[in-house]
Amino acid sequence: MTIQWADGHQSAYDFELLRWRCPCAECAGEAGLPGKLASTSQLSDDQVELTQMEAVGLFGIRPYWKDGHDTGIYGLSLLRAICPCEECAALRAAH
Ligand SMILES: [Zn+2]
Ligand SMILES: [Zn+2]
Repeated sequence: MTIQWADGHQSAYDFELLRWRCPCAECAGEAGLPGKLASTSQLSDDQVELTQMEAVGLFGIRPYWKDGHDTGIYGLSLLRAICPCEECAALRAAH
């Protein structure tokens, strides 16, 4: 999946990365409690395969995963924050 940002930057995500970063309460946890991903070391094929992608308003995307999971809504600020390109990785490492 590729996103072209308004500032000209381009981000390319693979689906496994997106699934690991699922921001929903079940995966990422909430109120200080760890989510499912905290105790997961490997994802199954169904968990990293996408059946559908939906735009949520102007600010996010909602992937529908093959294992039936679809509660994670990825805001654009989250997507930009997890951009896997070298430039962004270097920026993150510097902070
Ligand atoms: Zn999730
Ligand atoms: Zn980047």
